[in-house]
Amino acid sequence: MVRAIVGACWGDEGKGKITDMLAENSDIVIRFQGGANAGHTIINDYGRFALHILPSGVFYKHTTCIIGNGVALNIPKLVEEMAELVAQGVPQPNILVSDRCQIVMPYHILFDAYEEARLAGKSFGSTKSGIAPFYSDKYAKIGFQVSELFDEDILKEKVERVCVLKNVLLEHLYHQPLLDPKELLDTLHEYRDMIAPYVCDVSAYLYEAIKAGKNILLEGQLGSLKDPDHGIYPMVTSSSTLAAYGAIGAGIPPYEIKEITTVVKAYSSAVGAGAFVSEIFGDEADELRRKGGDKGEFGATTGRPRRVGWFDAVASRYGVRIQGTTEVALTVLDVLGYLDEIPMCVGYEIDGEVVKDFPTTAKLEKAKPVLKVFPGWKCDIRGIKNYEDLPKECRDYVEAIEAELGVPVTMVSNGPRRDEIIYRK
Ligand code: GDP
Repeated sequence: MVRAIVGACWGDEGKGKITDMLAENSDIVIRFQGGANAGHTIINDYGRFALHILPSGVFYKHTTCIIGNGVALNIPKLVEEMAELVAQGVPQPNILVSDRCQIVMPYHILFDAYEEARLAGKSFGSTKSGIAPFYSDKYAKIGFQVSELFDEDILKEKVERVCVLKNVLLEHLYHQPLLDPKELLDTLHEYRDMIAPYVCDVSAYLYEAIKAGKNILLEGQLGSLKDPDHGIYPMVTSSSTLAAYGAIGAGIPPYEIKEITTVVKAYSSAVGAGAFVSEIFGDEADELRRKGGDKGEFGATTGRPRRVGWFDAVASRYGVRIQGTTEVALTVLDVLGYLDEIPMCVGYEIDGEVVKDFPTTAKLEKAKPVLKVFPGWKCDIRGIKNYEDLPKECRDYVEAIEAELGVPVTMVSNGPRRDEIIYRK
């Protein structure tokens, strides 16, 4: 059975925790999009980890972790992250990397930084991991596939060809040092040797795994609103964050994805620029940011303070719908225990009219939140195992979210640890 675990909004919903938890009963965990530009924080018996490129199944000996063809593969980062885990006492994970996966090149990272500097104040808030230049090159058909590392003739010719193109931009647009094809080829030889032990025909592997009835998780990065088609374009990421893309980014039939578990946060947070209707500011925001997540709301990859706000029913309902959600995991509910009253954004006011459907970006920029206030439960709900044992105000809040989303909330996460979960079937 294949299940996708994806985010409803801007990312950082706690997909890592839910994936790590569900990986216990899974044979395979696959990353199918994105790169090392976002992080999942996972807290388990081995310690606290920020994973950037490795799938969140790496903590179990029985799981095979796969980097699918849809991922932006940063080879040194992958190798480094594996080494860090092992150094912290985690058994060497079983990793497979698709031979069709494309490689983040050193110049992608440089171009990302040069472009952000060129755009100055008008930048897209890139994490400078090379993701946008990487995906641009992939679709411009000048990307490098892992398989090409193993064909010296193809590799050499392509390196020379691509350097000509890149050097025009480096010289005339960015006024930066040029690429040396020889040096780049040497780097790619190093990459080839680093990745060789993990390379696999992943779609063939998964075809057999599905036939054998294995349990497979597709782990999404970021969330619906960062999807290049359905998100808050252009403040989006460069690969699809939707469960549907899991089929493409892993190489499996779309109809094999039977469950789509969308992770929804009990309040909102976002990194980077872009409209964020239910955002709060000042002391109110500082307090939520400090209390949020497991160590405050700061980016797992960048350490940047996250923007925070109230639960946004309009954005979340849209995010849940566009994912094709079959069930919702509601996370970080425990964090809200300090509040006397909990506002929820239940509509957007745009040009004097209240809308319930998530609009396109130009309209979104004009939206003002319509808030409904719920009574807080004013206590710590960590440690509670049964839904019925949650305070009534807390259950009312969960059920109000469920009613807004129109999809069952089957899991409620009341703490960052693997076992802090309330099942609600
Ligand atoms: P991801 O990218 O969706 O995996 O999310 P991140 O790992 O970037 O952010 C989620 C943060 O919330 C992490 O610091 C988690 O440890 C933390 N977290 C996840 N679930 C819960 C929860 O139920 N309660 C609390 N307090 N923290 C949680």
